Amino acid sequence: MTIRLVILGRQGSGKGTQGARLAVHYQIAHISTGEMLRNAIKHDTPVGRVVKDTIDQGRLVDDELIASLIKGRLGETDARTRGYLLDGFPRTLPQVKALDEITRTRPLNVVIDLEVPRALVIERLSVRLASEHRADDSPTAVEQRLALYDEQTAPLIAHYRRQGVLAVVDGVGTPDEVFARAVSAIAAATGVTGSGGDGQVSR
Ligand code: AMP
Repeated sequence: MTIRLVILGRQGSGKGTQGARLAVHYQIAHISTGEMLRNAIKHDTPVGRVVKDTIDQGRLVDDELIASLIKGRLGETDARTRGYLLDGFPRTLPQVKALDEITRTRPLNVVIDLEVPRALVIERLSVRLASEHRADDSPTAVEQRLALYDEQTAPLIAHYRRQGVLAVVDGVGTPDEVFARAVSAIAAATGVTGSGGDGQVSR
C-alpha cells in the first residue's frame, strides 16, 4: 500500500510540522522542496549556487528546475514503493502540470489544504523571525511570500478540487488537534488510517 500526498498551506501555516508528522505516521518520504534547496545552498552544489539569491529575496525558483528536482526525487525507490508527502511543491500552475505528468501512472491520493488565516500566519512568522534569524523570514520577504502565495498557489486549490483529491483541513488549533484532523481527512479520502508498529499500512 503506497500513499501519495501533497500538503498545501501558506508559509507559517504549520505545514512543515504537520508534513513531517504525517510522513512518520504513514512511513512515507517527506519531500520538502524548501529543505532540498536550503541543503543545496548549504553544501554549495551547482543547484544551490543557482538558487541562492532567488531564495534570499523570497522569490520563487524556476519551475523547470524545481520540476526536474522533484521528478528525480519521486523516481527514487522509497517514494515509488512506500509513497511520499510533498511539502512546498507544487507552488504554481506550471508545476501542477509537471506533477500531473510525473504522477500520470501513479496518481496523487490526497491534496491537503491546510487553512490558516493570514493574520495568524504573520503572527507566527514574526515569532520564527525572532528565534531563527532566517534571511528569508525578514518582514519584507514574508510579505512578498504571502502575496505570492495568494497569487500563485491559491489557483492550485481549484485545480485539485476539480480533480476530486482536495481535502481542506482547518489549521487553527494545537498541533495535535490539526494532526488528528489531517489523519481523519486522509482516512476519509483513502481508507488508510496509518502505519502499524510493524511498518505495514493498515486500512
Ligand atoms: P519553503 O521552505 O517551502 O518556504 O521554501 C523556501 C524558498 O524556496 C521559497 O521561498 C522559494 O524561494 C523556494 N522554493 C521552495 N519550493 C519551491 C517551489 N515549489 N517553487 C519555487 N520555489 C520554491
